[in-house]
Amino acid sequence: MGQSTSSRDFATLQHHLIHDNHANRKAMLDFIADDPIYIPRYNMPLEFEREITLQRLKKLGDKGFISVFDFEKNPLNIFAAHEVAGMVDGSMGTKMTVQWNLFGGTVIKLGTERHRHILSGVDNLHNVGCFALTELGYGNNAVEMETTAIYDDDNREFIINTPTTLAQKYWITNSAIHAKWAVVFAQTIIRGQNEGIHVFLVRIREEK
Ligand SMILES: Cc1cc2nc3c(=O)[nH]c(=O)nc-3n(C[C@H](O)[C@H](O)[C@H](O)COP(=O)(O)OP(=O)(O)OC[C@H]3O[C@@H](n4cnc5c(N)ncnc54)[C@H](O)[C@@H]3O)c2cc1C
Repeated sequence: MGQSTSSRDFATLQHHLIHDNHANRKAMLDFIADDPIYIPRYNMPLEFEREITLQRLKKLGDKGFISVFDFEKNPLNIFAAHEVAGMVDGSMGTKMTVQWNLFGGTVIKLGTERHRHILSGVDNLHNVGCFALTELGYGNNAVEMETTAIYDDDNREFIINTPTTLAQKYWITNSAIHAKWAVVFAQTIIRGQNEGIHVFLVRIREEK
């Protein structure tokens, strides 16, 4: 028996609503449906939840469903992968956006040639990163943040400092565990002059 008119219409409507990257979305959904690691679980201990979220994400990265290089080749796929991930596991969606969008996206868009070596370790989660913007005292009002990056002329390096309690970086997904790198936003002070907020790539954990 052929497809009924209404199911054909539904498929057409769905195709238009989904808009882009149809093949990748379908492949990602099929992959998730086939692998028991993605079966929803409840009341998990915190450590287990953190680990399974990382493993779920790693499988998606290894299969190439999302890539930091999509920012240069196919930016809509960044959204597509997030939409599928968000339907499956909200924690995985948050961790995905920090790794590929906030961390990887910052490095690929604001980094220079000398930072690009990080990018090869974004998709396979070798270089897990975090995005240190929000401070305890400055959430939406991030422009007032207090973290400083003061240029040390003698040693030709920036010294990053948390001068007050309210300046603590807060809510930083991946920073408590897993992240080796942080992109840190700070008031940039050069020879006594505040040059505004700039971002610094900082190593926060060594290789195990
Ligand atoms: C799951 C999760 C993950 C996160 N991960 C990261 C991360 O990886 N890196 C990172 O840097 N941050 C992260 N954040 C922090 C997030 O960016 C902040 O929570 C956000 O910027 C809001 O800041 P706040 O929580 O301090 O709220 P506030 O800015 O204090 O806002 C509190 C309330 O006041 C209201 N409000 C604030 N300003 C105004 C205004 N001018 N006018 C009217 N109303 C206002 C807000 O709407 C809100 O209801 C994460 C947050 C969550 C929940």
